[in-house]
Amino acid sequence: MMNKSAGTYASARAALQTKREMFFKSDSTASAGGGGGGGGGNPLGPPSTAPPAPPVSAPTSAPPPPPTTTTANPTPTPVTNHVNSNATNNATNNATTNNAPDAKTSVASIKEQLLTTKDKKDHKDEENKESKQAAKPPIKDKTNAKEVFRRQREVEGYVGFANLPNQVYRKAVKKGFEFSLMVVGESGLGKSTMINSMFLSDIYSNEYPGPSHRVKKTVQVETTKVLLKENAVNLMLTVVDTPGFGDAVDNSDCWQPVIDYVESKYEEYLNAESKVNRKSISDNRVHCCLYFIAPSGHGLKSLDIEFMRRLHDKVNIIPVIAKADTLTPEECQHFKKQIINEIHQHKIKIYEFPEEDGDNNKLKQRVPFAVVGSNVTTEVDGKKVRGRKYPWGIVEVENLSHCDFIPLRNLLIRTHMQDLKEVTSSVHYENYRCRKLAGGTTDNKSKSSNKPSCLTRSKNSVASAWNPLALMEEEKKEHSSRMQKMESEMEQVFEMKVKEKMTKLSELEADLQKRNETMRRKLETDMAELEEERERFEKERRAWETANNVTVEELRRRSLESISKEQVDGKDKGKKKKGLF
Ligand code: GDP
Repeated sequence: MMNKSAGTYASARAALQTKREMFFKSDSTASAGGGGGGGGGNPLGPPSTAPPAPPVSAPTSAPPPPPTTTTANPTPTPVTNHVNSNATNNATNNATTNNAPDAKTSVASIKEQLLTTKDKKDHKDEENKESKQAAKPPIKDKTNAKEVFRRQREVEGYVGFANLPNQVYRKAVKKGFEFSLMVVGESGLGKSTMINSMFLSDIYSNEYPGPSHRVKKTVQVETTKVLLKENAVNLMLTVVDTPGFGDAVDNSDCWQPVIDYVESKYEEYLNAESKVNRKSISDNRVHCCLYFIAPSGHGLKSLDIEFMRRLHDKVNIIPVIAKADTLTPEECQHFKKQIINEIHQHKIKIYEFPEEDGDNNKLKQRVPFAVVGSNVTTEVDGKKVRGRKYPWGIVEVENLSHCDFIPLRNLLIRTHMQDLKEVTSSVHYENYRCRKLAGGTTDNKSKSSNKPSCLTRSKNSVASAWNPLALMEEEKKEHSSRMQKMESEMEQVFEMKVKEKMTKLSELEADLQKRNETMRRKLETDMAELEEERERFEKERRAWETANNVTVEELRRRSLESISKEQVDGKDKGKKKKGLF
């Protein structure tokens, strides 16, 4: 009996855990499910109801199911604290049962922690009752065992941490939401119309037309801020338009104002983060960039490629095919394939969906989103719909078989807005910070645009995008390759210098040899001349000796003899003179 109940207890715990996980998971996906489910269960269909309301009360038993209330105007009511009443119930419930002793201890300790002194007093009598009941023999039949575990579950459920999502919800709703959406593309592609259709409001109107109608044809960045309200949820939407983009004859560098804008917002945020008071930093960073591609049917233009290459490591890019009603479904599919191939070919990193689940796969298959926009509503089968009326029929903006407007809107607003913000913060902004803090330039012009960013989004999670070890490894590699380059450069310089020296030395050697040769030749000539002179002199001497019949040697001997005689005579005379005195 005990083993069986322990097994059932374990399985009940496992089921409870699964339910909890489902609950937390569904907190983020409930709205997605609701959005996807809009339009009659179609995950990508149009919304038929307002977004789901949050759970309004703390759970009384097992954690509550995901918030699925779809009232038109759900007002989040204050969450009532049911802890005490639950405690009373559970205490009473437990009083009728005889649990396993350790389960009972844990129940008691939980109560100990949760009940205030006052509560303890209130429940003292019941505690006594409970202990009396506990002394009764164990209940043996199956139904009672089930009851025991149901109550155990209730007891565990009453701890109250399942209420955490409500706390987060209330706080988030109170704070409001911020989202910056950038639209880039040539003027006339329907950007302003798309923005109006997207948020079901006249952000641009006849009185305040879209930027491309107001601004001169030079690339500028225009921001429009609007506060949108839906079921007490405030969304501060910033629409960033780039009128004049790609309109000039020479479009080189027309992406620069866009890069400057994106980075200026990162800079603003970085400065705000470094201030003493960082409590209320408003997030004006660009969270998503819708890049409008002209429906040419001929793939991407070089401007499209260059823009995406320059911006892909700075902002989440989502490519869209503008005015998709000008393409037949076959043309559209073919065009999409062409665009995706070119994106892969040029190694452009567009926004990646976080998980490879069914919905995300469906969304992925629709990229680039072929969209149609309209500022007017027309009647189809007695129903008012946003669409474009042509003599041959009506193109409905919110019809999945006509265009990808709904999946795109769901992605941006219902299902992936938070993820877009997270990726902006943990990937693009972190990259900016890395570059900035490393003291490097953040400008693409001075960096190879193909160079990978220090952070990229991993396939499954944003958290794993930040990998300091990988970053260090990359830096180490970069450093060693820089050292190798320096070494080879130094070797080259050394070799060049040695070569130069060698040539100089050989030149010097040749010069010396030349000079040596010249001097040798001169000496030889001089010697030959001297020899000649000597011979001439000898000849003259011999001629003179023959003429005077005496040799020079003889003459020398005679003169030497006479000199020595004179000297001897001079000495004698001196002696005689000395003797006289
Ligand atoms: P922007 O300069 O990119 O902001 O373009 P606008 O939104 O001002 O639109 C330019 C023109 O294109 C307007 O006449 C719109 O009515 C029209 N337009 C907008 N969206 C679409 C669309 O999806 N299909 C077609 N065929 N025309 C569109």
